[in-house]
Amino acid sequence: MKQITASELVKNSSYINGRWCDTPARFAVVNPANQQLLLEVADAGAAEAEQAVLAASAAFASWAALPAAKRSELLLRWYQLVMQHQQDLARLLTLEQGKPLSEAKGEIAYGASYMQWFAEEAKRLYGDTIPAPSADKRIIVQRQPVGVVTAITPWNFPNAMIARKAAAALAAGCSFVVKPAQQTPLSALALAELAEQAGIPAGVFNVVVGSDAKTIGAVLTQHPKVAKFSFTGSTAVGKQLLKQCADGVKRVTMELGGNAPFIVFDDADLDAAVQGLLASKFRNAGQTCVCANRILVQRGVYQAFADKLAIAITSLKVGDGVNSDSQIGPLIDDKALQKVTALVQGAVAEGAKLLLGGSSHSAGKQFFQPTLITEVSADMAISKEEIFGPVAPLMVFDSEAEAIALANSTDYGLAAYFYSRDIGRVFRVAQQLQFGMVGINEGIISNAAAPFGGVKQSGFGREGAKYGLDDYTDIKYLCLGGL
Ligand code: ADP
Repeated sequence: MKQITASELVKNSSYINGRWCDTPARFAVVNPANQQLLLEVADAGAAEAEQAVLAASAAFASWAALPAAKRSELLLRWYQLVMQHQQDLARLLTLEQGKPLSEAKGEIAYGASYMQWFAEEAKRLYGDTIPAPSADKRIIVQRQPVGVVTAITPWNFPNAMIARKAAAALAAGCSFVVKPAQQTPLSALALAELAEQAGIPAGVFNVVVGSDAKTIGAVLTQHPKVAKFSFTGSTAVGKQLLKQCADGVKRVTMELGGNAPFIVFDDADLDAAVQGLLASKFRNAGQTCVCANRILVQRGVYQAFADKLAIAITSLKVGDGVNSDSQIGPLIDDKALQKVTALVQGAVAEGAKLLLGGSSHSAGKQFFQPTLITEVSADMAISKEEIFGPVAPLMVFDSEAEAIALANSTDYGLAAYFYSRDIGRVFRVAQQLQFGMVGINEGIISNAAAPFGGVKQSGFGREGAKYGLDDYTDIKYLCLGGL
């Protein structure tokens, strides 16, 4: 923490209505690389969540009434401040989350890119005029901000998951309250400090940090002043929060879990596929919802691909994210380590072959070895659950139809990837994969210009692109008669 040069970015309490709100109770934020205490943070609860919603509600009308160009200017200022502090923000992120510094820097730039993108989109929130069915009428369609938006975000992208939602909400003219994951509140609070420095008015962007997610979540999903709720996290929690939103008929965006297939066809460029897989699978130690989870390889190239992948995995450097050469940091907590261990052991017990890794790593208590297992089958738990660890399970298939059937045999539908150089196959397979996003000869697919989101039990709603504003606006139809 001492190496963070802009000390004003290190905050230890919620940011509500432009004020830092202390509470007597505290909770600990620890470094997952070494379990050391980073900071004690004021533990907000239902009362603070309600204050934040009321502040956002009071701030909404004047924020929505600002010309789009002015909101755009403030978002751009926020973007610039985030980029100016990229190093410090990245360090804070690595300390509380564990990912390597180079990845953390990438996340800060990625999160900021949504501020820049939506600063531009704010000015293009166009409506329509529609030819009316009779001569004495005109039909005008406008898009208006939905109102107060609340959000709950996960620990795996402590900066970007907030930036991606807040930038779209603020651009549309909504005010915003977020509860970050309790493991990673510091990145969220640093964003609040920079929002204030950018001149975003009090009450427009609020951060409530607390250890009791359920209690805070109840307010954020059920308060009558909340118009829309946006969630990124597990499918199980998302389902619960969706039910909580039902009574108030809140608008909802759900970015839930994934179980991404990564298909390597026998006409693929195998070296490119290995590189794509490394990026998709091992980024953030395998803790992303778009991580390759099931690697399906056609029989003709199965052995060659496994050999190349083994060499690539062996060279991955595991260590504390603050070390400049580290490529794989720790898992977020001990529970995550236990889960990954159990999935690997279960697969091996059921007949899979362990080629590399398979247990915790000497770098520290929460580190897991980059792992490669082969001869995995679709009925094993490791194929059905999100692994959320640096484990690559390989499965063999024979035909294109079999690959598609295997890929789609999941309740999830977030991201899928495939490698092929056959143009006909590219279009056939892309069309049949039941996923919101498909990487074709590409392992990293998310950016601000593209719509991020899933189908099936991976959720609904899109973040980024021109579509990203849709979830934060209502369509209003004006009927002019008597002309
Ligand atoms: P993960 O397994 O990645 O931690 P979760 O869905 O458990 O995913 O957590 C994502 C976010 O949801 C976090 O901010 C967490 O605090 C919050 N959360 C977890 N359980 C609840 C709940 N019952 N009500 C509201 N928020 C919750």
